[in-house]
Amino acid sequence: MTTLPAIAPSSVNPDEFNPFLSMAEEFDRAADHLGLDEGLREVLRMPNRELKVSLPVMMDNGRIKVFTGYRVQHNYLRGPCKGGIRFAPEVNLDEVRALAAWMTWKCSVVNIPFGGGKGGVICDPRSMSNKELEQLTRRYTAAIMDILGPDRDVPAPDMNTGEQTMAWIMDTYSMHVRSTTTAIVTGKPLSIGGSRGRREATGRGVMISANEALKMKGLRPEDTRVVVQGSGNVGGIGAMLMHRQGYRIVSLSDMYGSIYNDSGLDVNAVLSYLEDNGRLEGFPEAESLENSEQLELDCEMIVPAATENQITSQNADRIKAQLIVEGANGPTTAVAARMLDDRGVIIVPDILANAGGVTVSYFEWVQDRMGYFWTEEIVNSRLEQIMVNSFKEVAETATKNSISLRAAAYIVSIDRVATVYRMRGMFA
Ligand code: NAD
Repeated sequence: MTTLPAIAPSSVNPDEFNPFLSMAEEFDRAADHLGLDEGLREVLRMPNRELKVSLPVMMDNGRIKVFTGYRVQHNYLRGPCKGGIRFAPEVNLDEVRALAAWMTWKCSVVNIPFGGGKGGVICDPRSMSNKELEQLTRRYTAAIMDILGPDRDVPAPDMNTGEQTMAWIMDTYSMHVRSTTTAIVTGKPLSIGGSRGRREATGRGVMISANEALKMKGLRPEDTRVVVQGSGNVGGIGAMLMHRQGYRIVSLSDMYGSIYNDSGLDVNAVLSYLEDNGRLEGFPEAESLENSEQLELDCEMIVPAATENQITSQNADRIKAQLIVEGANGPTTAVAARMLDDRGVIIVPDILANAGGVTVSYFEWVQDRMGYFWTEEIVNSRLEQIMVNSFKEVAETATKNSISLRAAAYIVSIDRVATVYRMRGMFA
């Protein structure tokens, strides 16, 4: 995915835009609620392991360029680390750390047996050829291989990485260990051990979360106007599935701009227009808007499914939606979330709302290890069961304690990881 990084205006505290600090704030609040002792807090706050690697790559012009890559394993107590690999110019250690920690809490909130990890390489994939990207991917895999493995750390796609990247990682790892190891990555093509339903899984999980959230407000899909930010894997597929369920998708956006039609967009037509034209701008049955206007549209629900720091102290007051279902990781800053909570806006937090992707990644890993593959119906129904049960558990915790869904999701997930620490004890 190619994103425009959100820039903190000079009038606001730049800490608001630091995803690691946002995550740490949520963590501390949940830890206070749980009465976690200081030692355990320290353990859970710190990443278990951080690796920084230099990656020399022979570029097409015959020169060697050295890239920097990271892999952070935030926590591997509940199982192998799980988390994507991001290729982007703005990758930095704080961001990778935050994303790795979010993965720990995400895997725990849906109770799948993984810890959290994340990786990233500082590069601009748009300016690189396919051959250069392949070499970079293979070199990165070889550099972090000592800490990877189906029982140790299982990467997946993230921004600007996809099925092809996963295939290269799987091949590089397999060549080194001298046996085909499909379970080393998830999000692979079907032909090499991918899972049916994985491509749609995050969007499907967003839709299931939206369905559950609607019940809290007594709304029906047909009464719900939805603004979706981002038209990629999460936003585009999420919008398409929600459209099929009867939601009125009134706006979609991409990095270049937004489109709007109050009567509802024909999402399939929008997505095929996007595929043909590379951008949404110019879609005939809608008016064009600036991206800054999109989130402030009159609607019942927003699905931010593009990138971090989109709903902030700078626009939270102007948000009209009653429901926000976070498709992206970290789209709402902690400050903005508090402002919206105070106004009674329900936010389904990222670690729950977008957990459909990692849940089907878990199914992919299970199928690879069994060597036995499930039908799409089985994948989708097991996903639905996990998402609905997890949502209910979080909603009940929220109601019981009169707290937000976000605070409740952190409490459920941190409590689960802390319990494993207590049971296993501290190795010394
Ligand atoms: P993607 O590359 O498929 O799509 C991203 C979309 O967002 C594109 O349409 C892009 O043009 C648009 N976009 C980028 N910046 C924008 C901006 N400032 N305003 C409006 N649109 C903008 O990426 P994706 O896989 O859909 O991931 C989106 C988010 O969801 C990321 O935060 C990612 O970490 C998170 N996420 C993805 C998955 C997954 O399975 N793909 C799982 C969990 C979380």
